[in-house]
Amino acid sequence: MARKKCITNFEIAQTMLKDMAGDVAIDLVKICERKRKGVTDEEIAKKMDLKVTEVRTILNMLHFRGIACYNKEKNKKTGWYNYTWEIKQKRITELLIEKYLEKIAKLEEKKGLEENYVFFNCKNKCENHPFEIAAEYQFKCPECGESMNPLDNKKRLKEVEKRISLLKQDLEELRNNY
Ligand SMILES: [Zn+2]
Repeated sequence: MARKKCITNFEIAQTMLKDMAGDVAIDLVKICERKRKGVTDEEIAKKMDLKVTEVRTILNMLHFRGIACYNKEKNKKTGWYNYTWEIKQKRITELLIEKYLEKIAKLEEKKGLEENYVFFNCKNKCENHPFEIAAEYQFKCPECGESMNPLDNKKRLKEVEKRISLLKQDLEELRNNY
């Protein structure tokens, strides 16, 4: 049986984690994913070659979004508390599904626009204008004065459709396996 891919391999997961907790958040999540049990911030810092304080900052940001959670245990020898961290994959999945739905909705809207409106542009490609606006300018570009012609939107429509179907595939995979 094929191995289930890591949640961090989903396209949108990378941008989401980066937006939440910075460039290296994705590496941190990967490290925690590989460990079955909790992992201490010191261990993570060593693996990532970062300062423990930097790792804590990232963990706290992920904790804020419900992605990272910790266990506190008293070390019987030292009397100090040990914190071990875990990544909640279920929570990442939830947030990702939201993101995918949002993206798909936006693209569907774009698709609707492409289908229902003809856009006009000049040969210098200054700015696209819908028919009504282009007609107001008498099909002369307001920026450069060249005449504006209808754009062929078949190619763009195809691209949007392809994006949507790829996102839907990812979404299905997420819903069925995670
Ligand atoms: Zn122009």
